Amino acid sequence: MPSLYVHVPFCIQKCDYCAFYSHTLKDVPGDLIALYLEGLALEVAGRRKDAPQGVSSLFIGGGTPTVLTAENLERLMILITQNFAFEERAEKTVEGNPGTLTREKITIIRKYGINRFSLGVQAFDDRLLRNVGRFHSAQQARDAVRFLREAGFSNLNLDLMFGLPGQDMISWKTSIEEALAYKPEHLSLYGLMLEEGTPLYDRFREVPENSSLIGGAEIKDEFLRKTISEKDRDLPDDDLQAEMQEWVVKRLENDGYIQYETSNFSLPGFECRHNLGYWRGKDYIGMGPGGVSCLKRVRQKNVEDVRAYYTSLFEGREPLDDDGKEVLSLKDCMAERMILGLRLREGVSFSQFREDFGVDLRDIYGNVLERYQYGDFFEINGDSLCLNSKYSFVANGILKDFV
Ligand code: SF4
Repeated sequence: MPSLYVHVPFCIQKCDYCAFYSHTLKDVPGDLIALYLEGLALEVAGRRKDAPQGVSSLFIGGGTPTVLTAENLERLMILITQNFAFEERAEKTVEGNPGTLTREKITIIRKYGINRFSLGVQAFDDRLLRNVGRFHSAQQARDAVRFLREAGFSNLNLDLMFGLPGQDMISWKTSIEEALAYKPEHLSLYGLMLEEGTPLYDRFREVPENSSLIGGAEIKDEFLRKTISEKDRDLPDDDLQAEMQEWVVKRLENDGYIQYETSNFSLPGFECRHNLGYWRGKDYIGMGPGGVSCLKRVRQKNVEDVRAYYTSLFEGREPLDDDGKEVLSLKDCMAERMILGLRLREGVSFSQFREDFGVDLRDIYGNVLERYQYGDFFEINGDSLCLNSKYSFVANGILKDFV
């Protein structure tokens, strides 16, 4: 059974670090949300055949699903929950931004059987939130947690970020302590990434030494250098970020959380089953503009354009982007299994790998395992190859060798 993801490509405003595909509401022409929902209804009708036995989990994300009006949110809920069959006790998640969440919307979400909510808090600190252009306040995040608990959500994820401009160890600890006070079942903790094309990237990018901006009039040169160094001080350096990570892993362990994936922590039994599916290499269907699907090694991505998405579906075509469908090579699938699987504490199962690909992973990746001193960077746990947890935060550097 595949999992199901639904992309809602709208946000109140764009956060300064965000490279995801979404439209800000103020730039959206009146008919765009209606077109999105009509397109989605057409896509649902066509995609049901891809999940004849139903779906194993649901994640409605974005963008910001809760930016929709209560009426449109209800249309979306009806569309998805009444057109797909779900595995018994399937995990069904909606994600949202505290600035767009009302009691009315939470009631609607609950009414359609959503049993997990993922809230984008990022920090319980208004100054830090402003520094990255978040739309909401810390108080709105507190209220949202309370509303969600009062509405009966007993599986709650809070997203928090480290490495934010202006963040120091004290503010990081303060946000984590407040998050823990709400006893969320799950915490996702991601480091800030400076993605090209985002306002934050422009704010903090390095000015090349031979830039024409530097080396002009002396006064200008000095001004720029001073400005850059002030900005650099504002962004936590690598050592501080490493310290933040080390501290939080121990702190969360003390409260009973398991770091089951490099950036994800949960109380026992509350691992995100939807994301586990991606990391374990299961099939998935992604709907909505920008949605990505991968079924039986065929990967396809929907076009990131609401009008083009709608028009394709209206004309009876699949709403694919220019790359169309790609049949992944066995080599690509194996590399992906290693890269995603080794981020998990459970690691990559030897027997599952052999069952899926017909070869022993040691025969394929023996050279990589040797390079990293087999037995130190990597451990064997029963039937699984695991990355030693002390290297989990430098995992990316190691994992790229599997490509
Ligand atoms: S709310 Fe989420 S999807 Fe929207 S701009 Fe911010 S980070 Fe991106």
